[in-house]
Amino acid sequence: MDLAFTREEEAFRAEARAWLTAHVPSEPLPSLETAEGFAAHRAWEAELAADRWSVVDWPTEYGGRDAGLVRWLLFEEEYYAAGAPGRVNQNGVSLLAPTLFDHGTREQRARVLPSMAGGEVVWAQAWSEPEAGSDLASLRSKAVRTAGGWRLSGQKTWSSRAAFADRAFGLFRSDPDAPKPHQGLTYLMFDLRAPGVTVRPTARLDGKPAFAELFLDEVFVPDEDVIGEPGQGWRIAMSTAGNERGLKLRSPGRFLAAADRLHRLWEAQGSPAWAGDRVADALIGARAYRLFTFAAASRVLDGAALGPESSLNKVFWSEYDIALTETALDLLGAQGELADTDWSERYVFSLAGPIYAGTNEIQRDIIAERLLGLPKGRR
Ligand SMILES: Cc1cc2nc3c(=O)[nH]c(=O)nc-3n(C[C@H](O)[C@H](O)[C@H](O)COP(=O)(O)OP(=O)(O)OC[C@H]3O[C@@H](n4cnc5c(N)ncnc54)[C@H](O)[C@@H]3O)c2cc1C
Repeated sequence: MDLAFTREEEAFRAEARAWLTAHVPSEPLPSLETAEGFAAHRAWEAELAADRWSVVDWPTEYGGRDAGLVRWLLFEEEYYAAGAPGRVNQNGVSLLAPTLFDHGTREQRARVLPSMAGGEVVWAQAWSEPEAGSDLASLRSKAVRTAGGWRLSGQKTWSSRAAFADRAFGLFRSDPDAPKPHQGLTYLMFDLRAPGVTVRPTARLDGKPAFAELFLDEVFVPDEDVIGEPGQGWRIAMSTAGNERGLKLRSPGRFLAAADRLHRLWEAQGSPAWAGDRVADALIGARAYRLFTFAAASRVLDGAALGPESSLNKVFWSEYDIALTETALDLLGAQGELADTDWSERYVFSLAGPIYAGTNEIQRDIIAERLLGLPKGRR
């Protein structure tokens, strides 16, 4: 791919930069994992959306700019470089929206996407269950047919920001007699405030209260909230999981900005020689990941699907993030261990990177089997 961007792309970048310079809050918002921070980040989403910066690659009819993947990547570089707030609707934007673009109906897209773009409706992902994380196909929550829709029952867990979100999307077993576990699953959207839903916050390592588990007791969902055909949920979910791991969840802009911040921290600490190689690795890693991601985007723009290469990206960014934040904490010394700094918060969250979006052990199995052609491991 040609990384000399066109004049139009550079103009887009400049427009994004100017908007961000004028609008990014001068003081960081409170953590989006708290009720107060969640509300502040929702208001920020509305501000982004008012000038069509919240989902730049989406079609204009749903609130985007039809800008395409390359401009989206450029926007993300500017976004993180400007120190703009975290995105509270990330699960909706990076997981549910691509699912609806590929498998939803026109009516669903028109109903769901504009309010997602504006942050009026924030979505939670309800895939994991207590006995179904890596082995997602063993999930037991069920969807039972009823007049005009379905009744959902069961338990979902590890749902990011579900304590404050509005709606959720997830997989349910609609045909308990299907011959294989990944058959007979249906993909549904539901209201987190519907009768029969109990949302129970789960404490995280950092003590913030937004993570939650969900208990569903005969929750009614109308037919219009089924995504794709009933029974086809697995195929639909897998087509978007690759997108999450390989492209949309962690754009390189995030790491370019973090590596630059680390570099500045190193200089501010007197450029200690012992950390020089680690800081250089962080700067090089961010640029390597950027090239890899632009290459993936260019394959997608040429019509290819994101395949198992997504797992390479996922392992890379999650391990990179830990190494980068560990270096920052080492540079801060006792202050990094004891004080509640931005770096310490980032470090604690980085530890979850090898777990969420599919654990790295599972990603390495995918790489071994599907990219390297090695025999299947023992399960
Ligand atoms: C911060 C965070 C946010 C999350 N957000 C969400 C969310 O919003 N929505 C949601 O639905 N889920 C979410 N999750 C859940 C996440 O997707 C699961 O934790 C993950 O898929 C692992 O599942 P598990 O926790 O059940 O662990 P397990 O599947 O029980 O795995 C435990 C360990 O065993 C290893 N293992 C399991 N099977 C194999 C195998 N076959 N080969 C080799 N190793 C194996 C795993 O890699 C792991 O190291 C989140 C998790 C975290 C930590």
